[in-house]
Amino acid sequence: MLHDNLSVNPAGHLTVAGFDTVELAARFGTPLYLLDEDRVRSRCRSYVRAMGLAFGGASRPLFASKALSFKGIYRIMAEEKTAIDVVSPGEIFTALKAGFPAADMYFHGNNKTDADIKYALENGVGYFIVDNAEELAVLSGFASGMGIRQKILLRLTPGIDPHTFSAVNTGQLDCQFGVPIETGQARAFVKLALEAPNIELCGFHCHIGSQIFDWTPFRDASDIMLSFISEIKNDLGFEAGVLNLGGGFGVRYVESDPYLDIEDSILRLGKHIDGVCSRLGLKKPTILLEPGRSIVADSGVTLYTAGGVKTVLGFRDYVTVDGGMADDPRFALYGSAYTVVNATRADAPADFKCTVAGRCCETGDRIQENVTIAKPQRGDIIAILSTGAYNYSMASNYNRLCRPPIVLLSSRGAVMAVRRESFEDLTACDL
Ligand SMILES: *Cc1c(COP(=O)(O)O)cnc(C)c1O
Repeated sequence: MLHDNLSVNPAGHLTVAGFDTVELAARFGTPLYLLDEDRVRSRCRSYVRAMGLAFGGASRPLFASKALSFKGIYRIMAEEKTAIDVVSPGEIFTALKAGFPAADMYFHGNNKTDADIKYALENGVGYFIVDNAEELAVLSGFASGMGIRQKILLRLTPGIDPHTFSAVNTGQLDCQFGVPIETGQARAFVKLALEAPNIELCGFHCHIGSQIFDWTPFRDASDIMLSFISEIKNDLGFEAGVLNLGGGFGVRYVESDPYLDIEDSILRLGKHIDGVCSRLGLKKPTILLEPGRSIVADSGVTLYTAGGVKTVLGFRDYVTVDGGMADDPRFALYGSAYTVVNATRADAPADFKCTVAGRCCETGDRIQENVTIAKPQRGDIIAILSTGAYNYSMASNYNRLCRPPIVLLSSRGAVMAVRRESFEDLTACDL
């Protein structure tokens, strides 16, 4: 099985964290998001432990909320002592509702509105990760008006191409996030921040991309960022105390994806950064990382009920499921790879080649093309693996479909953390 929390029980059903998925589907209905809570916690602990060893001091992971945002996940993050990255007032609101401390929030976003900035200031968000000079000016003005000295990091682009998808490749120069180092604009941005009233510049941020299976792009990013820190120290007399290297460690979606030892990668990065800092005569900054996918993706499984098999003679076989791009838009958006399992017949040979299609009125509504699974009958439970990140958080009500519930699996049993949307929810905003 793709992950070590997955197995097949004597009934031939797929199990997740020891729970029979066919039973869960019968109990909670489908589509259904499952999240192995113990596995999420162990991922958090692994980051906290490795970062403590590698970087020491106040270094810690910030969970990237955009990967998965609901109250329960913020309670888990608070208990596991990770900070969080938030990108909208909606994420801030959700985390606050869960009792997550505002001081441990890092507010991202390339176009924070005036209202967003005010909301975050009023609620005491710990850090703004400032994307551009206009945001800096508005933030400084509001902070002055409120008598707040706001801590910030500046988002910079180091110009790294980690060889992933261009759609999720954000560290290159030509993108809408942050300010580039190479063009000299970052230096001017730092000067502005140092001069801005009621702003405390703490350091710098970069995010180079996603689904990265190697530590070396992070090494390269840290080289560029540390030499920038050194240059700014020499030029402007400001030595950054915080370096946030963003998220992006990869997760296995299919058998052919490599294994990445994240703890080992972090330890290597720590040694490397030690060396560079001593060579440049820098105090080692507090290193932050912003894992999203690698905290939650491989703890999630989505269950659907098969509607049946449709054969288009001379072309292919389609298996239809009772969800699709509304609850998992990743294949439609980026052609993402997934592993599909017939959870009802997980012990039968996976020898039926098919395309798994959703129920939305779009030809592009596919979960995966040309996968092999045990041939389903109408009513079989179809499981999609590694759906913990960017599924629920990207879900929509397209075709007025109700968003599925999230069930947390742990030693406390199978506990519903987000209920299924109702038809009443669908019309709740309609006047
Ligand atoms: C998307 C994003 C992350 C999380 O990336 P993952 O690949 O999910 O780890 C972290 N930081 C920023 C700024 C991002 O845009």
